[in-house]
Amino acid sequence: MDADVIVVGAGVAGLVTADRLAASGRRVLVLEARDRVGGRTLTADVPGFPGQVVDQGGQWAGPGQDLLYKELARFGLTTYAQQSGGGAAVVVFRGKARRYTGRIPKLDPLTLADVGQTQLRFDRLARTVDLAAPWRTPRAEQLDGQTFETWLRRVCWTERGRDFFRTACEAVFATLPSNLSLLHALFYAASGTSLENLITTTGGAQQDRVTEGMGTLAVRLAAHLGDRVRLNTPVRAVSHDADGVRVRTDTGELTAARLVVAVPPTLAGRIAYTPAMPARRDQLTQRAPHGGIIKCHAVYAEPFWRADGLSAEAASDRGPVKVAFDATPPGDGAPGILLAFLDGPESLRLGELPPEQRRDEVLRSLTRFVGPRALDPVAFLERDWNAEEWTRGCYGAHLPPGAWTQVGAALREPVGRVHWAGTETAERWCGYIDGAISSGERAAAEVLSA
Ligand SMILES: Cc1cc2nc3c(=O)[nH]c(=O)nc-3n(C[C@H](O)[C@H](O)[C@H](O)COP(=O)(O)OP(=O)(O)OC[C@H]3O[C@@H](n4cnc5c(N)ncnc54)[C@H](O)[C@@H]3O)c2cc1C
Repeated sequence: MDADVIVVGAGVAGLVTADRLAASGRRVLVLEARDRVGGRTLTADVPGFPGQVVDQGGQWAGPGQDLLYKELARFGLTTYAQQSGGGAAVVVFRGKARRYTGRIPKLDPLTLADVGQTQLRFDRLARTVDLAAPWRTPRAEQLDGQTFETWLRRVCWTERGRDFFRTACEAVFATLPSNLSLLHALFYAASGTSLENLITTTGGAQQDRVTEGMGTLAVRLAAHLGDRVRLNTPVRAVSHDADGVRVRTDTGELTAARLVVAVPPTLAGRIAYTPAMPARRDQLTQRAPHGGIIKCHAVYAEPFWRADGLSAEAASDRGPVKVAFDATPPGDGAPGILLAFLDGPESLRLGELPPEQRRDEVLRSLTRFVGPRALDPVAFLERDWNAEEWTRGCYGAHLPPGAWTQVGAALREPVGRVHWAGTETAERWCGYIDGAISSGERAAAEVLSA
């Protein structure tokens, strides 16, 4: 056999799986389709500013993500607070821009009251979710038999309130609430503590950034694993039986006693298995689509918005940019960088435009948040995760109605000698890097005890 265990995918989950198995003395090989490690994390250099970086994939860490902070510290990576520069955030609702400080966006009192009562009811339901087995949640069928949108229409009284949650949903799931099972929305929020926690900067999931870039974590993990990681090796097919697994790549076949597939379910479903996966597992991978994201960075000589008393943290009910942040590196404030997310349907629409036109739309959209100087960046970076063959949309999988209760049990359940990892399989911080780490630790422990 070529290894005790083969791991498919050198994202954070696959690398952690391999790291823990190697530490237990197992012979392990990681096969990665891309010419780089890190998967949905990727740190890029800022053109024209040597030594400065931005994260084009996952970037934030926040309270409760203890595994992530521990892994960062292990490799000597440091964090700093997502800066607001002390300035005001901006909310553009119904075309009207308003500045605010603190956690509560400046909306009219009726909308705020409606948002508050809806959030209370959402949080109350989210606390009932069984994170280890969402299909065993009290009234699971009922919660899973409706979309988040259907529920919002019933519970949230005002169109403005509903638009608030639609924007929040796109920011968190990169898709519209009409695409999500309510049970999935509740599970995901509870998995990351609460919906509010997922959309909060200080004290929430967007609290800290990694000085060296979040993508560096996977690079360091891979360096630690050395030649156990093979790039440019997409796994096309897997045969598995009681004796072991045989993996077909573009460059040949490899054998091992066990396999850990550490890729999102929709990509796991594109591998050809012999024998075919059991029906429940296959139906799960047919029903775990990704949302859509293009992540853009507009680079300026300085963070000009800070002098105007703005933090550049911004949200709007209208696109194309619905959410923006300050992505200026720590230090002396040069360069100034705005981070703009194109989410869900807007990411699909803009993804079809020529790059120049897309850039113009993004910059014009940013002027609503920070004024006309947004139109003149010295550099512009973008990453269309929808167009990436080995990711196919982001931030990750969401489950539509019926999926959790009918096929959700197949998410983590090994099939013979084939095991599953990846952030989508995590109980805590599902969809996040912390969840990718815990999934790798769980899969490694599962393999070791088997
Ligand atoms: C724009 C963006 C912003 C995000 N922001 C945050 C954030 O701020 N904080 C946070 O915690 N999370 C964030 N996330 C999510 C986070 O990046 C992911 O949860 C995490 O990186 C997932 O890791 P993973 O190892 O489970 O999956 P992946 O990173 O997707 O790794 C899977 C790997 O498998 C490879 N692969 C796929 N198919 C095959 C095959 N057949 N053969 C071989 N290799 C294959 C892929 O190339 C990839 O390298 C963000 C994601 C994106 C895209």
